[in-house]
Amino acid sequence: MSGAKFERIALIGIGLIGSSISHAARRAGLADKIVGSARTPATVKTALDLGIIDEGFQTAAEAARDADLVILCTPVGICGAVTKEINDAGAFRDGAILSDVGSVKAAIVRDVLPHVPEGVHFVAGHPIAGTEQSGPEAGFAELFDNRWCILTPHEGCDPSAVEKLSAFWEALGSNVETMTPEHHDLVLAITSHVPHLIAFNIVNTAGHLERVTNSEVIKFSAGGFRDFTRIAASDPTMWRDVFLNNKEAVLEMLGRFSEDLTALQRAIRFGEGETLHKMFGDARALRRGIIEAGQDTDAPDFGRRASVAKDEADED
Ligand code: NAP
Repeated sequence: MSGAKFERIALIGIGLIGSSISHAARRAGLADKIVGSARTPATVKTALDLGIIDEGFQTAAEAARDADLVILCTPVGICGAVTKEINDAGAFRDGAILSDVGSVKAAIVRDVLPHVPEGVHFVAGHPIAGTEQSGPEAGFAELFDNRWCILTPHEGCDPSAVEKLSAFWEALGSNVETMTPEHHDLVLAITSHVPHLIAFNIVNTAGHLERVTNSEVIKFSAGGFRDFTRIAASDPTMWRDVFLNNKEAVLEMLGRFSEDLTALQRAIRFGEGETLHKMFGDARALRRGIIEAGQDTDAPDFGRRASVAKDEADED
C-alpha cells in the first residue's frame, strides 16, 4: 500500500465531517469515486444534490461494498453496530482500510475491532477540527487545513495501512500524529470534552436563573457568555455519545478542574489579588502558545470584528 489515493471511498454518515472529507478529497484528487450512506433519505439526497457523493445508499453495507477505504462518520455510539452490519452482509472488500473520525478512541476500538474480518485493516482516527454546525451542508474543503489528525493504531494494527491513512489525511490538509487510543482520550478530555461540558453547563445555569432574566442574558451576552454559547450549540447526540464513551478520562479531568475552581473561589473569597493575577496571567500565556502554534489567530474578538467589517463592506 502506498500513496494517498483510493479507488472508492465510502463515507458512512455524511454530516459535517463526512462531507468535509469528501470536499477535501475531491480538492486533492484522492478518489476515483466517493459514495455514502446516512440514516435518513433526506441526507443522502442532499449529499447527492451537493455533489458530495457520486452514489448514495440507504444502508452502510451497500455503501461499503467494493470500497477500498470505508470511513465511519456517524456518532461514536453506533460505530460498532455499523461495522457489524457491514461485516454480516459480507460487504467488506478484501484488503480494504476501515477507519473512523469519532471524538473518542478506546471505546471505538473496543466496539469496532470484533467485527473487522481477516484481511480488512482497521485504523482508528480523529481529525481535531470541527465547527458547531451539523449535516451535509455544513462541510467545506478547508476544514482540516493545518489542523491535526490523530491516528490511534491498536496492538496488531497493520503498519502499511497506518502509513497509507496518514498520507491520506496529509493530502486532506492535516498534520498527522499517532498515539494510543487511551492517551488520545485523556488528551481530548481536557482539550475538548471538558470545555464542551463547561459550555453546556454555564449556558444552562444562565438559562435557569431567576433573578436575571433570559432576555437580559441574551441582550448582554457579548460580555463573554456568547463565546460559550457557540460551543454549547454543538450536536446533542454527538456529545451524549462522547461523554458516555469517555467516562473515566472526563471524570479524572473534571476532578482536576473542580480542585482548580475551588482554589479560584477561595482566592476570590479571601481577596487574594496576587493569586488571581497569577492564574489569569498563566491562562493568557497558554492562549499565546495556541496562536504561535497556528491553531488560532490573534484577530481581536476571535476575528469577529474583521468579519463584521467585511460583511458591512459587502453590503455596500
Ligand atoms: P453530523 O453532522 O451530525 O453527521 C452525522 C451523520 O451520521 C449524519 O449523516 C447522520 O445521518 C448519520 N447518522 C446519525 N445517526 C445514525 C445512525 N443511527 N445510523 C446511521 N447513520 C447515522 O455529525 P459530525 O459532526 O459530522 O460528526 C460525526 C462524527 O465525527 C462523530 O463521531 C463525532 O464525534 C466526530 N467528530 C465531530 C467533530 C465536530 O466538530 N462536529 C469533530 C471531529 C470529529 P442523518 O443526517 O440521516 O441523521
